[in-house]
Amino acid sequence: MTNISSVNDGSGAALPVLDRDTFAKRLLDWFDVHGRHDLPWQQQRTPYRVWVSEIMLQQTQVATVIPYFERFMERFPDVSSLAQASQDEVLHLWTGLGYYARGRNLHKAAQVVVAEHAGKFPVDSLDAMAALPGIGRSTAGAIIAQSTGQRAVILDGNVKRVLTRLHAQQGWPGRPAVERGLWQLAEHYTPAERVVDFTQAMMDLGATLCRRGKPDCERCPFADVCIAHARGEEKRFPGSKPKKSIPVRTTRMLVLSDSQGRILLEQRPAEGLWGGLWILPQFDSDAEIDTWLAQHAPGALRSAAWASFTHVFSHFRLEITPVPAQVEQLNSVAETRMWYDPEAPAAIGLAAPVKKLLGSLAPFTLSQPPSA
Ligand code: SF4
Repeated sequence: MTNISSVNDGSGAALPVLDRDTFAKRLLDWFDVHGRHDLPWQQQRTPYRVWVSEIMLQQTQVATVIPYFERFMERFPDVSSLAQASQDEVLHLWTGLGYYARGRNLHKAAQVVVAEHAGKFPVDSLDAMAALPGIGRSTAGAIIAQSTGQRAVILDGNVKRVLTRLHAQQGWPGRPAVERGLWQLAEHYTPAERVVDFTQAMMDLGATLCRRGKPDCERCPFADVCIAHARGEEKRFPGSKPKKSIPVRTTRMLVLSDSQGRILLEQRPAEGLWGGLWILPQFDSDAEIDTWLAQHAPGALRSAAWASFTHVFSHFRLEITPVPAQVEQLNSVAETRMWYDPEAPAAIGLAAPVKKLLGSLAPFTLSQPPSA
């Protein structure tokens, strides 16, 4: 590389790097012409707006996030309105974005900011920011850099991809030694000037040129110094997570409707899988369903199960078999259960496969399985 110095690669070895000014100039020259300058969270860059966008952008593409971000800002224009909302309403606005722990943590963090920081994000302290629920070191750095212009370092998925390719850094970035080396590189390259643009530029380079599947190296400002590109090995970086086989679990979901076509839902406990979301009652077998119906819905009519479908989580696959039944009314409806009308949906957070199933039920008919 030209203008070379070196940093520790995380394992103790010296890694040649471009000097900071050269790197920043190349990146910012590219960003001025080709970067993204009109994303909704780039207007009025308050810590609150940057924070919400950063959390939504974790594991989700910009184009998907934009309408969610705008709806969220319309309903919760500041951190206190978010802190005062019910978790149900927050999760309702999150429905479809996935990874619901992000929505729950967002709500919790808003309450901490109001209760412990007088409604102001502690942007003068990286440690205090990173201590908020759902905010790690990289997200804390991004919020500080983007909302205040103070020098702060980020290392999100896009930046990891760029840096591992640029330096042909081996190993899965989830391994502590590999991650340490990447933080060293990110720290080395982050300038003190134009930090807002530099941070956005790193994310844009990863998202628009140094893409996971098909990097556009011909247009990259680092094509002449990128080691992975020189070797024609761009797709080997970053290294993959060591594979484990994903287990398959099965469940039966009871689609119990009443005479008005409403469906019985129940709310999951706040913690754990689908925490706080509303789902169809789950059982392991038809026999369990029959026992439950006899107790809670005497006279209910259960029909044959519909075709199963699979929902994929990061650590297992869930094979879901919907089992329809009809009843005039229940003995009683507990606080954590509700009748849900697919024709006039309540503002609640629904687990993704339940949302999909309910969407395919309108108008609900017991005799006909949904087409989806
Ligand atoms: S040259 Fe290609 S692989 Fe290397 S950083 Fe640029 S886009 Fe990524």
